Amino acid sequence: MTTLLNLKKLMQSLIDLTKVRDSLALDPALLSLMQQWMSLFATQAQPVRMQVLSKRQLVSVMDTQESSTDPTFEAWPPEVYTMLLRYLNREHRQHACLETASGKLHVFPLRQSISHKNAILLIQHEALSTDEIALVEQCLQMFDHYAGLIVENERDALTGLLNRKTFDQCVGKILLNDYKPEYRFPLHHYLVIFDIDFFKRINDTYGHLIGDEVLLLLSRLMQESFRDGDLLFRFGGEEFVGVFSCAEEHEIVTLLDRFKDALAAYSFPQVGQVTISIGCSKMALNVLPNTVLEHADEALYYAKEHGRNQICFYETLIAQGLLKDSMITGEIELF
Ligand code: GH3
Ligand code: MG
Ligand code: MG
Repeated sequence: MTTLLNLKKLMQSLIDLTKVRDSLALDPALLSLMQQWMSLFATQAQPVRMQVLSKRQLVSVMDTQESSTDPTFEAWPPEVYTMLLRYLNREHRQHACLETASGKLHVFPLRQSISHKNAILLIQHEALSTDEIALVEQCLQMFDHYAGLIVENERDALTGLLNRKTFDQCVGKILLNDYKPEYRFPLHHYLVIFDIDFFKRINDTYGHLIGDEVLLLLSRLMQESFRDGDLLFRFGGEEFVGVFSCAEEHEIVTLLDRFKDALAAYSFPQVGQVTISIGCSKMALNVLPNTVLEHADEALYYAKEHGRNQICFYETLIAQGLLKDSMITGEIELF
C-alpha cells in the first residue's frame, strides 16, 4: 500500500513538473520529483537536505553569509561553500560526493538554463549506493530533457541568446530573486541596449547570409566579453539587450568599455570592422523593466543621433540636461 501511495505521489510530482513552462519554476518541481523518486528506493528514508544552487547564488551567499539577518535562511557551513565553488570551477562536472563535517554531500550538475547557469543539485545523504546514485542520475537525465525543451523556448534560434519573450517573462522575477535577503550581493542592476551601426548597409553590400554571420559572431563576442551571470538577449534584428548585476556602480562602465574595445579589435570575415551604439539605464525594484527599457532606448537614440559608436547613460544625460525625464516633465505617452 505504501508503495502504491508513493507511486501516486511520484506521478503527481511528474505531472507538476510537466506543467511548468517557466524555467524559473523548475527548481521546486525538480526537488519535489527527486524527493518522491528517492523515497521509492533509498535505504535511508529521506535525504537530510536537498537544494538547487547556482554559482551566482553561491557567490552572493559567500559574500553576505556573515551579515545575513534572515532567520529562515539556513546556510551551509563556510567550508562547504568553498568546496562547492571549487567543484563549480571544474571544466567537466559529474556526480561527486563531498565529505563535510556534517556528513556526505552529493553534488550533481544540472543542465544550463536561465535559472540553471552553472547550477547543481545538492543531496545530503549518508547512505547512497552506486546503484542509487545511478537512479538519481537517470531521474536527472529525464528532468534535463524536459528542462531542455523549456530552455530551447527561451532562446533565439540564430544566436542562442535569450529571446524577447524570456525578457518579458523573467527579468522582473530575476530582480526580485536577487533582492532576497540572503542574496544581497548584486546591488546595482543595469539594462543595456546594443544596436549595430548601419547594419542595413552590411546586408545591402554583402547579402543577408553574411549579415546573419555578423549577428552570430557578434553574439559570441558578447558572450566571451561579459560574465557568467550576465543575461544577454537578442531582441530581434540587430538589437541586443543585456542585464548586468554589479557590486559597484562604476563596474558597468568598465564592463561596457571592455566589450567595445573587443569589438573594435575584431575583424568580421569580408565585412571588416563593425561598430555599435549602446544605451544604458539603471534598474530598480520599483521601476518596471519596460520603463527602464524605454530609458535605455532614449539613451541609445541619443548615441545614434550624436555620431554612433558610443555608450550613453540615461541617468548621466538627464543629469547633464541633455535629455528630459518624461516623469518630471509630465509627458504622457498615448501609444
Ligand atoms: P542604425 O545605425 O541607425 O542602427 O542603422 P541600421 O542600418 O543598423 O538600422 P535599420 O534599423 O535601418 O536596419 C536594420 C536592418 O537589420 C534592417 C533589416 O534588414 C536587418 N535585419 C533585421 N533582422 C535581420 C536578420 O535576422 N538577419 C539579417 N541579416 N538582417 C536583419
Ligand atoms: Mg542598427
Ligand atoms: Mg535597430
